[in-house]
Parts: sequence; structure tokens; C-alpha cells
Amino acid sequence: MIVTIDGPAGSGKSTAARALAKKIGYEFLDTGAMYRAVAYYCLCNSIPWEDHSAVAAALPKIQLDMPLGRILLNGVDVSQEIRSSQMAEGSSKVAVIHAVREFLVAQQQAIGRGRRIVTEGRDQGTVVFPEAELKVFLVASPESRARRRFEDLQKRGETVSFEDVLKKQYERDKRDSERAEGRLVAASDALTLDTTDMSIEEVIELLIREVEK
Ligand code: C5P
Repeated sequence: MIVTIDGPAGSGKSTAARALAKKIGYEFLDTGAMYRAVAYYCLCNSIPWEDHSAVAAALPKIQLDMPLGRILLNGVDVSQEIRSSQMAEGSSKVAVIHAVREFLVAQQQAIGRGRRIVTEGRDQGTVVFPEAELKVFLVASPESRARRRFEDLQKRGETVSFEDVLKKQYERDKRDSERAEGRLVAASDALTLDTTDMSIEEVIELLIREVEK
């Protein structure tokens, strides 16, 4: 069985998906981390995220492995490095590139084949696993999503202002919603949940009930 959890940045999907997977004994796949790792590779190799042909040409040199909730880029653990606000921006820029989506979607489908996974991202229910048994789309108000991101970044020790997080989030939502492929949109058969006034525990409880139905 495959459970897909899609939604915009800060909707709580990472935490909910990770906790749900643990609770029901499924593997967890964080597909955003894969886009972030591609952006990080580009940064480290002076490839501008906006240079689509240079990013596409670099893909054969990128090997991603995802053991136990970590992400290895060419054998090096970059799980921490990819969490910065800079990588949030870079990942959404490389995510508009057709070759990048093709490269990562194929890997995600290979990871999911024959496995029981909870996978989270933007296009998991629409493009990557359209046959998934349970599809969830999480939404929340822009302010509450930015608040969660802001708190996460503060915990990481980044000095950011709430207004800046909100502005960057708006730009990222726009890029994620308007790109040609893998657009941020609920699958027609997805269960849409507004998490604005829900605690993460409530979200997880609700998801467990849905899986058990
Ligand atoms: O979920 P997360 O914030 O880590 O995702 C980072 C970026 O990666 C998103 O803004 C989006 O542009 C891209 N992404 C995507 N498709 C996915 C997951 C993430 O395009 N399935």
C-alpha cells in the first residue's frame, strides 16, 4: 500500500508523514529532500539554478541514497545542509526543470515499487503514484505555514524575519503552483485537510483513522 501526502511548504506534511509511517510500520519517503539535494549539488558546483541546461547536464553526476530518513548525495550525508532557507528557494527553482523532474520521479517510483511507503511532496498523488490507495492533500493558511517555517529556521539558528519567510513562501508557492509539470494541486481523489487550527497530533490521529478504514 502507498499513502501519498502532498501540500504546500509548512502545511505540516513532513512531520505528519514521518510520524504516520512510523506508527503504521511503513517506510517514509521525503521527496522534497531529493529536489533540495539537487539544488545543493548545483550550489556546491557553481551551477546556477536558473541555468536549465547546465543543471540537466549535471544530473548524471548526482547519486542519491536515502537510508533511514537521511539523504546521501554522492555518498555524503547532506541531511542538515539541505534544510536551509537558501535550499528551499533553490529546490523550487530546479523543480521547474523537466529533466530534473524526470530524473527524480523515476527514482521515486523505483523506491516505491513493491513497498509499503508513506511518501510526501507536491506531485506524489497526481504524477508519481496515481494508483496510491490513500491520497491526502494538506493545506493551511499562509500565515500559519510561514509561522511553522519561521520556527523551524530559528531552531536551525538562522536569523530570518517572519515577513521575509512569508514573502519567500509566497514566491515558492507561486513557482510550485504555476510550473508546467508536477504542479502543486490536489489529486481529484485526494482527501483534503486544512491543518490551520489542528495540532500535529490531531493530524496524525486523523491520518491513522483514514489508513485503517
Ligand atoms: O517539501 P520541501 O519544502 O522540502 O520541498 C522543496 C521544494 O522541492 C518544493 O518547493 C518544490 O518546488 C520541490 N518539490 C517538488 N515536488 C515534490 C517535492 C518537492 O517539486 N514532490
